[in-house]
Amino acid sequence: MTRIVSGEQAPLEASDKALRPQTLAEFVGQAQAKANLKIFIEAARGRGEALDHVLLFGPPGLGKTTLAQIVARELGVNFRATSGPVLAKAGDLAAILTNLEANDVLFIDEIHRLPPNVEEILYPAMEDHVLDLVIGEGPSARSIRIDLAPFTLVAATTRAGMLATPLRDRFGIPVRLEFYTHEELKHVLLHGARKMGAPLAEDGAMEIAARARGTPRVAGRLLRRVRDFATADGATVIDKGHASRALARLEVDEVGLDSLDRRYLRALIEHYNGGPAGVETLAYAIAEARDAVEDVIEPYLMQQGFIQRTPRGRVACAKAYLHIGLTPPPQPTPQGGLFE
Ligand code: ADP
Repeated sequence: MTRIVSGEQAPLEASDKALRPQTLAEFVGQAQAKANLKIFIEAARGRGEALDHVLLFGPPGLGKTTLAQIVARELGVNFRATSGPVLAKAGDLAAILTNLEANDVLFIDEIHRLPPNVEEILYPAMEDHVLDLVIGEGPSARSIRIDLAPFTLVAATTRAGMLATPLRDRFGIPVRLEFYTHEELKHVLLHGARKMGAPLAEDGAMEIAARARGTPRVAGRLLRRVRDFATADGATVIDKGHASRALARLEVDEVGLDSLDRRYLRALIEHYNGGPAGVETLAYAIAEARDAVEDVIEPYLMQQGFIQRTPRGRVACAKAYLHIGLTPPPQPTPQGGLFE
């Protein structure tokens, strides 16, 4: 099942090429990341050198791929894209690397899923622009070294923590993407609606923005569905009323949680007494893959203060109890309130 509020791209989902921002200036939000990138890009361009390697990390749908494309465009170089799971053999990566022109951008999505044998040839490529390949097998095997054009690796991951330290250390420019504010998403929505020719009113945009989990991909998806409902209703303007009725029909609540998020919170509170409960246990309880729970469900629940991650597992906060209509348990106070 594909969730409407998932930040991940659905398999057959339109990639919204027309809606993608094309320049850093057009890219909404992520002010600090943009400001830093702008300086580094200008410096690299000025020197005629390849930009240092960039690691983009953060939950799905926040604009990592978009930003990688923008970096290439602003540098005025070619953009090649691949992903960790696609690069099964060292030869796959070698073929791509040897085809790069000077200062090109190579984008590797989901770099945390790169097989170890491929990661190994990436190290010398990143550091010294060389490729060390072993040709042949057994006693006649020999290794050859191929020089590569200098290039910039822009890698994206939802799990910076899963990268081996030597790999992480090779990125001169680590960039963490943050969830977007409602104002920023409103801006993304109004801009996108204009490009799509959808008559979205300011209060309609705000209503969608508030339920889009801080994620531009979710905002774009909600906008398309809301527009469908509004068209069916014969609306000439998509205002707050249309947006909120459509979102209610999509079962996205006023803070952007859907039935799966609510099931997660219920499982944690009702089956495990509010925690601590392990992620594996919770994923099992709601019949979801652990990766999806960690990448898509939890980051937003955590950012919104519904749950906390502790060394012993996930714990429900008072806000989670209230959200599903339950009374939170009394909190022990630092003064020892409960035990006096
Ligand atoms: P990621 O690679 O992090 O999963 P993408 O770069 O594919 O995310 O972005 C997902 C969608 O959100 C795309 O349709 C993109 O156009 C849109 N998007 C992302 N960031 C922005 C932004 N800052 N401004 C406008 N649209 C954005």
